[in-house]
Amino acid sequence: MSPSPLTTRLAPSPTGALHLGNARTFLVNWLLARQQGWRVLFRMEDLDGPRVRPAAARQAIRELAWLGLTWEGEIVYQSQRTADYEQALEKLIAAGAAYPCTCSRKGVERAASAPAKEDGLSVYPGTCRNRYAAAEQARAESGQPPAWRVRVSEELISFDDRFAGPRTLDLSKYCGDFVIFRREGLAAYQLAVVVDDAAAGVDAVVRGDDLLPSAAMQIHLRSLLGLGPAVTYWHVPLIVGPDGRKLAKRHGDTRISHYIEAGATPPRVLGLLAYWSGLLQKRKEIDLADLLEKFDLSRLPKEKIVFSPADDNFLLA
Ligand code: GLU
Repeated sequence: MSPSPLTTRLAPSPTGALHLGNARTFLVNWLLARQQGWRVLFRMEDLDGPRVRPAAARQAIRELAWLGLTWEGEIVYQSQRTADYEQALEKLIAAGAAYPCTCSRKGVERAASAPAKEDGLSVYPGTCRNRYAAAEQARAESGQPPAWRVRVSEELISFDDRFAGPRTLDLSKYCGDFVIFRREGLAAYQLAVVVDDAAAGVDAVVRGDDLLPSAAMQIHLRSLLGLGPAVTYWHVPLIVGPDGRKLAKRHGDTRISHYIEAGATPPRVLGLLAYWSGLLQKRKEIDLADLLEKFDLSRLPKEKIVFSPADDNFLLA
């Protein structure tokens, strides 16, 4: 048995505005943390170069605070932690666990952000696995800096997700050797998360279940890097649109800012998020303090929640 977790983090990606779906996951994370007495840290996952908007980062902070969520200490910005990521990369290279890759595949660019199942991650065929003796050779042959991939094996990775249940993944079949550093010199999402969580002592991760496979990738990296503490995971279902896909722009304007501008108050937004979380029988306003008293993770639906016009009407009423 691993010891009870003590520290979690809110980790928004400022590639878009905070919407009802992300807000619901952060709220569940925060409520569980408060109920369990964990420390809550805040990390801005602003590594996705061109897609990151500084205004979106500031806005995510403001809006999570507007909902009443709190955290301890300074906010950590991944964009300022490159030196630590480079050190981890060096360690993996020295151990023979990472190799340069000059493939120009979409997967290399996509490594910037937390992957979603719908990204259709393909299995890397291992083209560059034993291709270059050193990074210099890769650079000389392709005329540009290489990306870096970490080797995976066929060994099964298992973990007991506290919400989604036990999981086992064979990374060689799911994604193959995956990108940990992009050719632009920026760490990929998987590496950054592992380095940052370990540096901050994070041992409880609560996030959307589109990241379930990422947990296996992160466990693999943590073990190669010899980093602790062990992490306990809670992956919770996402809010989706009527088409079953993760809530996004295509489903209309579900940004928190949109509802704030329309006059919605925190208790109203919290009321909808609580209703979606099985904590209220019907949509109605609720204070964060009352919500905390009612919070019971076992009532959270195991299925995806479909955002409906009735939800939108409730917030705009
Ligand atoms: N930044 C990710 C998101 O907003 C979360 C990543 C994580 O929790 O590991 O979905």
